[in-house]
This record gives sequence, structure tokens and C-alpha cells, in this order.
Amino acid sequence: AAKEKGKNRFLFYNQQSDKFQRRLKLEQGLRKALQNQEFMLHYQPIVNVATGEIIGTEALIRWEHSSGIISPLEFIPIAEETGLISPIGDWVLRSACAQNKHWHDLGYTTLFVSVNLSVRQLEEEDLLKSIQRILMETGLDPRFLHIEITESTAMTNVNQAIPLLKALGEMGVSISIDDFGTGYSSLSYLEKFPIHTIKIDQTFIHSNQMAIIKAIVAMASSLNLNVIAEGVEIENQSRQIQETGCSVMQGHWFSKPVCSQRLESFLRNPEAL
Ligand code: C2E
Ligand code: CA
Ligand code: CA
Ligand code: CA
Repeated sequence: AAKEKGKNRFLFYNQQSDKFQRRLKLEQGLRKALQNQEFMLHYQPIVNVATGEIIGTEALIRWEHSSGIISPLEFIPIAEETGLISPIGDWVLRSACAQNKHWHDLGYTTLFVSVNLSVRQLEEEDLLKSIQRILMETGLDPRFLHIEITESTAMTNVNQAIPLLKALGEMGVSISIDDFGTGYSSLSYLEKFPIHTIKIDQTFIHSNQMAIIKAIVAMASSLNLNVIAEGVEIENQSRQIQETGCSVMQGHWFSKPVCSQRLESFLRNPEAL
């Protein structure tokens, strides 16, 4: 038994060290990824199912590392811990705004782009100025930039978040609460925070919790907030969600996140969705 235990411990150390090695490799890779142009953005259409129109997109970062594509779920936390999220986040904002401006120039003049912001970015002193500069340099009208933050991001530093979100709102930028319903926080912030949109977390849709979805949609409506259902994968979900009064959706049923050229082909031909 003692021998077994020793063996397990050996296995454990080995696994730990594998994890550590990978983490070290990713961290080193991340430091060079920007200059090596290894990042790209994919865009997922956000659809008004009542009209069949693509009303906006969510920009989602992709990292093509020499070892393959690495999920943002794995590298964003490392970027946050190392502070690299700041230049990476600026790159995401700039690329998304420039791309959306390009689509406006092609004639899709009401399309918005939604960009995810991490808690570390929200804590940066120069965030507001960075966003202002990026909007000016890309020429995108601030009304077509949406910023997505999770409940926990918003709640981490409320005293800093509220004035910052207010200032963004005054600039014309829209604020969305991402993964809504998973943050276990009090709902009272919804009236304190200057937000425009609630994105219902995918887990409610995947586990078919229609009563919860219905309640969120009703609450959003009485608070005068827009609502988006995320992670819609099958037609039945789309239909049931629409019956609750929510007609703006995003998910694999419509399209996975795709490269900008592919998204552009959907804009030209929304029936292809
Ligand atoms: P998120 O912001 O909640 O983004 C939605 C995620 O759900 C995306 O995963 C998207 O590909 C996926 N998704 C969309 N539709 C469906 C569906 O119908 N079914 C299922 N199962 N999944 C669907 P992705 O792209 O891997 O991103 C994961 C997370 O990484 C994002 O979650 C976000 O928190 C973070 N992230 C991605 N891009 C950025 C970024 O540019 N900056 C920051 N700070 N975080 C980002
Ligand atoms: Ca998001
Ligand atoms: Ca910055
Ligand atoms: Ca989400």
C-alpha cells in the first residue's frame, strides 16, 4: 500500500509539473504573440430572429500558437495574471472597432460590435482614454461599440466601475452584462449600474430552464433593458425563447464565431445563416 501511495504521489507531481510546464510555455508564448501577429478575432452574429437580420456581432479572440489554437478560456486568465491583458485588450478593442467601421463603410450602418472586457482592464486608470482614442482613430461612432462585462467583473470594484461605466455611457458606448444570472450577486446593481443590455447565460438555455429565462426577460423589459439569449444551439430553443418575448439571440444554431470575411458574406446574404 505504501508503494502504491508513493506511485500515486509520483504521478501527481508529474501531472503538476506538466501543468506547470504548459503554463510556463503559454506565458512565454503570450509575451511574443502580439508582435508575432498570432491573435485574430472571430465574430459571432447576433441575430434578431423576428426580422432575420444580423444586428451586431460579438468579437472573440483566437490565438494561433505554434502548437495549435489555444482557447481564450485558457490564455485570458494567464494574460490577466501577467498584466499582458492590457496590450492584448487594447488590440482587441482596436481591431474590433476598425473592423466594425469597415462594415459601416460597406453600408451596414447599424451594425454594432460587442467586445469582452476583463476585470483587470476595468481597473486600469487609462481605460477610458484608451477607448476614446481607439474610437477616434478608427472613426467608429461610439454608439456601435458595446462593452461586455460579467457581473463579477462589475462587482469586483464597484466604486471604480460605476463612474467608469457612467463615463462610457456618456460617450455613447453601450454596456452589456455578460453571463447574466451566474454571478450570485444581488439584483439591486441593475438599477445602480448604467447598463443597456443583459446577456442571459448559456447554461439556462442549455439546461432548458425556461421559467428562469422568462423571468429574466420580463425583468429586463420592466427595467427597460435589452436582452440577448446566448448559446442557442437548436431550433426548438430559438422558438421557445422567442415565445418569452426575447427575439435577439446568438449561438451555434445561427452561426459559430467566424472570421471577418465569412461574417461579411453573412451580412451580404443573411439567408445563408
Ligand atoms: P463569452 O464572452 O461568454 O463568449 C461566448 C462563448 O460561447 C464563446 O466561446 C463562443 O464561441 C461560445 N458559444 C457561442 N455560441 C455557442 C453555442 O451555441 N453553444 C456553445 N456551447 N458555445 C457557444 P469562446 O470564443 O471560446 O470564448 C470563451 C470565453 O473567453 C468568452 O466567453 C470570454 O469570457 C472569453 N473571451 C473571448 N474573447 C475575449 C476577449 O477578446 N477578451 C476577453 N477579456 N475575454 C474574451
Ligand atoms: Ca461575452
Ligand atoms: Ca490601457
Ligand atoms: Ca457569455
